[in-house]
Amino acid sequence: MTATLIDGKAIAQQIRDEIRDTVSRQTQQGQRPPGLAVILVGSNHASTVYVGHKRRACEEVGFHSEAHNLDADISEAELLALIDKLNHDSTIDGILVQLPLPDHIDTETVIEKILPSKDVDGFHPYNVGRLAVRLPLLRSCTPYGVIHLLDSIGEVYKGRNAVVVGASNIVGRPMSLELLLAGATVTVCHRFTSDLEAHVRRADILVVAVGKPGIVAGEWIKPGATVIDVGINRTEDGKLTGDVDFEAARERAAYITPVPGGVGPMTVAILLKNTLEAAKLHQQASS
Ligand code: NAD
Repeated sequence: MTATLIDGKAIAQQIRDEIRDTVSRQTQQGQRPPGLAVILVGSNHASTVYVGHKRRACEEVGFHSEAHNLDADISEAELLALIDKLNHDSTIDGILVQLPLPDHIDTETVIEKILPSKDVDGFHPYNVGRLAVRLPLLRSCTPYGVIHLLDSIGEVYKGRNAVVVGASNIVGRPMSLELLLAGATVTVCHRFTSDLEAHVRRADILVVAVGKPGIVAGEWIKPGATVIDVGINRTEDGKLTGDVDFEAARERAAYITPVPGGVGPMTVAILLKNTLEAAKLHQQASS
């Protein structure tokens, strides 16, 4: 069996086109465009590249976007004051603080300062909690993007074993909650899991988000499984690669995401979708 590739780039573009059409219709009717504020602290190269992608994506769909590029030595209090100001700004629907933050700033304090209705990354404990109690509002971008990919291939979830490898706050944990909400039977593996192979071998749906190339061997994949590789790693020759041994895995899986071009493009598409959703919430609250 050679797996069918799940084309995240095409699915993400479709979402972006739909958002652009919606924004164009709404602004023609006199509504203000959704607004996203992107905060970058310092000049970490990867973060600067990611922030650039997000800003360009906003412009392409007709959002109002604001860049706040702050010095690496800004104090936590100053950053919190900026977030407070944006929380009260009625032209801003979404506030994104690019992670990682410098060590002298506490990430959780910053995330919790963002008004939950403007938390378009879906990282605030309020939004993660809503997902946990089956009342999702703004959902973490990468896991919700994975759900869109799974839906695109007609995944049924119920009665299926889903295994998530990785348990971080931004990917693995919310991913497990998404799969549970969808009706799958979920196992979460992490650095203290003793027999990763045994868990992976039982997975009908496998989502890997660790950040270690080759951590999942191709021969572990259950024949006919769906494999979603969230990992992004750079090889010595500068190429991007995922966490799963792709070539061997695609001989056993029914569906697999490539890296790049799988999950990656979905994250920005869902960020835009969340910002549109946040704008709708703010519009409803003010009318
Ligand atoms: P993280 O370092 O915060 O978390 C890694 C997780 O992997 C932890 O929960 C850890 O317990 C687990 N882990 C480590 N070693 C393990 C092992 N031997 N067996 C099982 N689990 C193990 O990383 P993260 O932020 O969740 O990101 C994970 C990967 O996903 C990275 O490669 C990152 O670049 C990528 N990522 C991609 C996107 C995207 O848009 N495609 C978004 C976010 C993260």
